Amino acid sequence: MQADPEWRYDRLTWPQMKLALARRPQPVVAIPFGAVEDHGPHLPLSTDNDILESVLAEAGRRAGGDLLVTPVIPFGLDEHHMDFPGTITIDMETCLAYVAQAAISVARHGFTHIFIVNGHGSNQSICDLAARKCVLATGCICAATTVNAAVSPALVADVLDTHRAGGPGSVGHACEYETAMMLNALPSHVQMDRAPRDIGQLKLKYFNWDHPQPSAYAWQDWWSRFSAEGVCGDATAATPEFGALMWETTATRFVEMLREFRTIPVRDRVDHHA
Ligand SMILES: [Zn+2]
Repeated sequence: MQADPEWRYDRLTWPQMKLALARRPQPVVAIPFGAVEDHGPHLPLSTDNDILESVLAEAGRRAGGDLLVTPVIPFGLDEHHMDFPGTITIDMETCLAYVAQAAISVARHGFTHIFIVNGHGSNQSICDLAARKCVLATGCICAATTVNAAVSPALVADVLDTHRAGGPGSVGHACEYETAMMLNALPSHVQMDRAPRDIGQLKLKYFNWDHPQPSAYAWQDWWSRFSAEGVCGDATAATPEFGALMWETTATRFVEMLREFRTIPVRDRVDHHA
């Protein structure tokens, strides 16, 4: 029986990498960027990284050689969570430089389509800018995305909205969604008897914390100023079935998305000064 093509970027040898670079169409490279931060009294600090690893491993297995996933960059921008024991924070300038240089390294070998895959809300702006730096430095197609619907539900918003049990306010952080994803991926690391329901966060006309709903402005406060236990949402509503559905939907759509993404042509620039 032939083994599945390797999907872990760093498990290839350099001659295998050379062959991957020569394949047409080329594999898309995903660079996950996560966090080690508090996720309530019921989930481990590794939650964002665990969700990234679990979804991207499944997407990698299903992509049949069309996806290569680098190791997770494990620490993100987390100063605003430092009142909770254990959080690790890296300043925003270092995060941006580090993630951009990882993407640029991949592009310098000749990969043309790269996803920076965010796992933690406050990394989002950094991922956008790191992708931009990579495009401007190398000319490749590099974009920021996420597989964590609590960061941005864009990929799976329809399923999230129709299948969550908790109703408005249930999805934010260490919430119905993230708890369900962990019940699916690492159930022995979820303490459901300690799962809180905290849906008392701000809900204004133009701003709200319920992530399937859009806010008209972006704002992030110190977490200890508005969240008693590091939860924003209804973790008690989480079920393994909801987690399995979201995991399955995300992995399926991620593979579909990367195959669409790599059809974006790398075009020549035109100098209009002449
Ligand atoms: Zn999280």
